[in-house]
Amino acid sequence: MKKIAPGGIVGILGGGQLGRMMSMAAARMGMDVVIYAPEADSCASRVSADTIVGAYDDETKLTEFASRCDVITFEFENIPASTLDFIENIGTSVFPKSNALGCSQDRLKEKEFLNSIGIAPAPFARIDGAEDIMPALQKLGGKGVLKSRTDGYDGKGQARLDGASDPVEAWKTIGQVPAVLEAFISFEREISVLVARGQDGKVQIYDTPENDHSGGILKSSTLPANISEQARAAAKKLGHKLADSLDYVGVVALELFVMPDGSLLANEFAPRVHNTGHWTEEACLIGQFEQHMRAVCGWPLAPAERFVDIRMDNLLGDSDISTWEGLSSDGAAPRVYAKRGGGEGRKLGHSNTILS
Ligand code: AMP
Repeated sequence: MKKIAPGGIVGILGGGQLGRMMSMAAARMGMDVVIYAPEADSCASRVSADTIVGAYDDETKLTEFASRCDVITFEFENIPASTLDFIENIGTSVFPKSNALGCSQDRLKEKEFLNSIGIAPAPFARIDGAEDIMPALQKLGGKGVLKSRTDGYDGKGQARLDGASDPVEAWKTIGQVPAVLEAFISFEREISVLVARGQDGKVQIYDTPENDHSGGILKSSTLPANISEQARAAAKKLGHKLADSLDYVGVVALELFVMPDGSLLANEFAPRVHNTGHWTEEACLIGQFEQHMRAVCGWPLAPAERFVDIRMDNLLGDSDISTWEGLSSDGAAPRVYAKRGGGEGRKLGHSNTILS
C-alpha cells in the first residue's frame, strides 16, 4: 500500500468539472494537484497548483507528469487505457488501474464482463454493420437502443429503434462504428450505486440515488430513492461485487435500472467519481471527491453514511447556470464549474438542496 501524506503531489488526467472538484477535495487533504490536459485553460487547472498541457499520447509530456507526481488518477473516461499503462511503467502508481478503464470504454466488453461476474445488463447483441440490426432487434423484443461501443456518453452515439426504424439511418446516426443493440428497458426508475474501495480492499458504499434523465442527460439525483430496502441492499451488493471483481481503487459508479418487480438490470459503470454522486458533498461527512482521493492516496476511507435527505439538480446550459443567485437566496448550494463558453445542455454546474 502506498500512502501519500499531506504535502504530496497528486496528478489528475483530465481538466473537466470532475477534476476540478477532485482537486478542491485534494487541497482539503493538504495535497497539491497537477492537472494533465490537452487544453491550457481547463476548469480544473484554475483551482490546481499546476497544469501540464499535452496530448494523452505525448510520451515526453506524460513522462514529465509522472515524474512530478506521487500518485495519479483520472477524471475523464475517454483517456486511452494505454496512457495509464505508460505511466505505471515509468513507476508512478495510477488508481484506478487500466483494467477498469479499458473495460468501461467498450460497451460490449463491459456487458460481457458484467455478465461474467453475475451482474445482469440489459439484454444486448453485438452489431458490426447495418445488416445486423433488424435481426437483433427482433430477438430483443422489437424495441431497442443502438449504442456505439466506444466514445459515447450522456446519450451521445445512440439511436432509439423500433420495427419501423430504418437500420441504415440508425447506423449512420451513431457514425457507422461497431455498436451494441440493447433491448429497450421499460424500467420503473433509475438508480446508481457509488462504491469507494481503498488500496486495502475495504469499501464504503454511499446510499443509492434515484436519477432522472432527460434526453440521455442526468437532470437530478434524489435521496432517498423511492425503492424497497431489498432493492437498495441488492444494489449495494452489486456495486461491492463490481469493485471487488475489478480489484478497484477509488470511487466507481454503477448505474442500474429498477424493474417494476423490483429486480435490477445494469446500464453501465463509470470508473470514476460520478455526476450522480455530487450530493454526497453536502449530505455526508466526506463526499465522493475526497473519498476518491483518500483511496488514491492510501488513506483510510470515511463512513459513507448519509445524514440528510437531499436533491442534486444539474445546471445545464446558460439558462440554468444563470439561476445561481436565486438558488443561493433559496438556501440551495449552487456549484459553478466556471467553464469557458456555455452551450445548450452543457453541464455548467449543479445545485444541492437539502430536503430535510
Ligand atoms: P447511457 O448514456 O447509456 O447511460 O444512456 C443514458 C440514458 O438513456 C439512461 O440513463 C436511460 O435513461 C436511457 N437508456 C439508456 N439505455 C436504455 C435502454 N436500453 N432502455 C431504456 N432506456 C435507456
